[in-house]
Amino acid sequence: MEKKFKVVILNAPHPSFEIERELLQDIADIDVVWCESSEEIVKVVSDVDGLMVADIPVLLTEEMMEKSERLKVISVYGVGTDRIDVKAAERHGIVVTNAPDYGISEVADHTMALILSLIRKIHTFDKSFREVGWARLRKNVTQVHEIAGEIHRLSTMNLGLIGFGRIAKAVAKRAKGFGFHIMAYDPYLSQDSFYGTSVQKVDLDVLLREADIISIHTILTDETRHMVGENEINLMKKGVYLVNTSRGAIIDEKALTEAIVSRHIAAAALDVFEREPLQTDDLLLHMSNVILTPHIAWYSEESMENQKREVALDTRKVLIGEAPIYPVSL
Ligand code: NAD
Repeated sequence: MEKKFKVVILNAPHPSFEIERELLQDIADIDVVWCESSEEIVKVVSDVDGLMVADIPVLLTEEMMEKSERLKVISVYGVGTDRIDVKAAERHGIVVTNAPDYGISEVADHTMALILSLIRKIHTFDKSFREVGWARLRKNVTQVHEIAGEIHRLSTMNLGLIGFGRIAKAVAKRAKGFGFHIMAYDPYLSQDSFYGTSVQKVDLDVLLREADIISIHTILTDETRHMVGENEINLMKKGVYLVNTSRGAIIDEKALTEAIVSRHIAAAALDVFEREPLQTDDLLLHMSNVILTPHIAWYSEESMENQKREVALDTRKVLIGEAPIYPVSL
């Protein structure tokens, strides 16, 4: 019998790996491993043909890749490959793949849920209702504004999308139904990409100055890291709402926290954080005007299954010498 490949599933917080086994077990032995440090990851990497990677705590570096003579493929559970040195992988002939086609509608739905929760103050009403009761809460309701009136349109809220890729477009489609005026900043897209979307293409400073709600949807790159910091926040309207379901490090979290404390940002809703998992002593966890979800915007039973299939299938393809469906290159 031919020797099987060795594949390790690294830091994947999934309850089962039946799909991965179903798609790979005829060609590979599969181990499920959890690593907390670079040293532990190096040990794993040195002895595998394929890595299927989820929430690793550190960057998968060139030095780690150099320790491996057999590694042929790194498949990432998710879109973002910011935890992998993709250029180094290319130099070492290691194919990197990701799973870009899962969860787009889930993240868009989640983003809309967060936007609507901020505007309708669902989180604060729920909390106050339980704490102070029906009558006292109803006497003190303030600061809720209409998105766009059906009949007497007094004002229309501006929704600003930073990045106008697949998820942002899906958010715009949903937000249109609620009557928002939608604008987006994406320097890599031409005016043609906005055709038929009812979304206004704007520069970043216009978006920052005019949006009532800002939702972030770029990928994380050296250029987008901390692209929303103190200067950008200072340009925003006082009382703006901020939503981030993309990558935590796109926002300078220190500047964000200060702006929430000062109420320049009235409230924020975050699914992603500079450092994940969020530490229990993080100030954000103790702020009443912040809605938090633990990087689960992508999740549904269906999207998880799709993601597993995409990751396992591309690992298989590379190992048997075929071209992957979702290669990543820089
Ligand atoms: P995408 O690649 O389709 O779109 C990203 C867009 O960002 C592109 O249009 C690109 O031109 C734009 N962009 C790049 N640099 C920019 C810059 N400097 N300024 C403005 N725009 C810039 O990606 P997507 O599938 O829509 O994913 C969007 C984000 O959502 C990514 O960060 C991804 O990692 C994240 N995501 C999060 C979850 C979750 O569960 N929270 C799940 C899936 C994806």
